[in-house]
Amino acid sequence: MSAPFKKLALIGIGLIGSSIALAARRYGLVDAIAIATRKSETLDEARALELGDVYTLDAAEAVRGADLVILCVPVGAYESVMRAIAPALAPGAIFSDVGSVKGFVHKTLAPMVPKGVSFIPGHPLAGTEHSGPKAGFAELFVGRWCVLTPDAEARSVDVEKLTKFWRGMGSQVETMDPAHHDMVLAITSHIPHLVAYNIVGTVADLEADTQSEVIKFSASGFRDFTRIAASDPVMWRDVFLTNRDAVLEMLGRFSEDLSVLQRAVRTGDGDALEAMFTRTRAIRRSVIDAGQETAAPDFGRPHQSDSDPTPVSAVRDHGGGDDA
Ligand code: NAP
Repeated sequence: MSAPFKKLALIGIGLIGSSIALAARRYGLVDAIAIATRKSETLDEARALELGDVYTLDAAEAVRGADLVILCVPVGAYESVMRAIAPALAPGAIFSDVGSVKGFVHKTLAPMVPKGVSFIPGHPLAGTEHSGPKAGFAELFVGRWCVLTPDAEARSVDVEKLTKFWRGMGSQVETMDPAHHDMVLAITSHIPHLVAYNIVGTVADLEADTQSEVIKFSASGFRDFTRIAASDPVMWRDVFLTNRDAVLEMLGRFSEDLSVLQRAVRTGDGDALEAMFTRTRAIRRSVIDAGQETAAPDFGRPHQSDSDPTPVSAVRDHGGGDDA
């Protein structure tokens, strides 16, 4: 039986691109995979890992004749990549991406999409702090959400086809308005990353002796922030450059709430602190009830049997890791 897509072109073959390549192949969703990336070292890595069938440094060549094209590069690179591939996009193709912001993607790319191509941006809420082709694994999307934000002119049959593609890789799929996506992700992903970058940055600025004690005793909470703050600097730079309004809106609310907590600590208002911490504990329970995390005690350690070859990061992230 032939696969739902004849040729998948992946532009960018880092963590997300390589995970799509592995999953699409494993679940029989594509007949052939063409891979394009910027650096020849990265292309060589992808070839050595046998992630695709065709490898090229010319993105337009990868796209030619593809019925599904997915951009898997940092959002800041979209415009220049699109300039190269737009003339090669085949009429009837589905053109998608995996970028962590969606309003910017629509605004930047929609005017450049040729007629007859269904533009259906996407965002898999799945990820780890690792980058590059070696970081990918086929199970990355299992049980995780993928949000699609179809352009108004995208054919509904193509939205259905792309939905099936993500479901085929194990995702749950939801369709959303791009602005709503950006607001939700600002608070669930972007602000948590900003907080982690900030707290780890504060430690980086401490005097050497205090810093070494923070590292020594990091298991008391700090190390969980260090994992998030180890995420790819270029990707996260682009997220904050391209989702500025939603991030600033949520950051405003966050700062107001932090001031309330600060005041409670300063005035010794134990009732206010306890009430707040009780509410947050209930949120944790609803995250577990929603299947986004397990209830197993977790002090940052993986739950994995020795015989399971799945990368430790995969196990942890399936249990509710950061998604970007
Ligand atoms: P990654 O592992 O760092 O891989 C990035 C890929 O993009 C590499 O193939 C890289 O190629 C290429 N690239 C980088 N800069 C480029 C440029 N200026 N022009 C052309 N190609 C360029 O990144 P990733 O984690 O897979 O992220 C890719 C996309 O997925 C991003 O848009 C991100 O927002 C989104 N996303 C990430 C996560 C996550 O947790 N990581 C989760 C959901 C969505 P070379 O090595 O050849 O330069």
